[in-house]
Amino acid sequence: MAKSKEQIERTKLFRMVKKCWTEDHKFRPTISDCREVFRNINTQVFNNELRMPNFKLVYSKDFWGMCRGSVDDPVKCTILMSKSFLSKRLFIDTMAHEMVHQWEWLNNDDMTHGPKFYQWRKELKKYNIHLARTYSAKKYKID
Ligand SMILES: [Zn+2]
Repeated sequence: MAKSKEQIERTKLFRMVKKCWTEDHKFRPTISDCREVFRNINTQVFNNELRMPNFKLVYSKDFWGMCRGSVDDPVKCTILMSKSFLSKRLFIDTMAHEMVHQWEWLNNDDMTHGPKFYQWRKELKKYNIHLARTYSAKKYKID
C-alpha cells in the first residue's frame, strides 16, 4: 500500500537520512549502526521481508559493501560493509544497495543490476536514498 508523503516524512528512516544532509562527514559504522539502518529500510521499503543478515565490517579498496547469499539456505545472507565511509549518506545508500541484492537472492534471482534491481529505486528515492550501481566517482565503486 502506498504511503503518503506526510507518512513517509514522519518515519525514522526519512529523518535519519535527512539528518545526514547537515552531518556529512567520515563515518565509521558499528555492527549496531548496520542493524539499525537495516531494520529501518527493511520496515519502510521491504515490508520486513528480509531476515537480519550476518554483518561483517571489513577493510577493502574494492567495494563499500558486498552481499553474499548462502546456497544452503537462501534466507541467510552475509553483508560485508566497509569499516570506513566518506559520509553517513554513502553508508545508508550502500546498505540499501546490498539489501536489494539480498532481496534478489531471496527471490532466486541473480545479484545483478538489471531492471529487477532498479525497480526499488523509486521507493528508496522517497526517503532520499539513492540507488545506483556505483556511487559518484570510480573509487566509490560498490558491488
Ligand atoms: Zn551491486
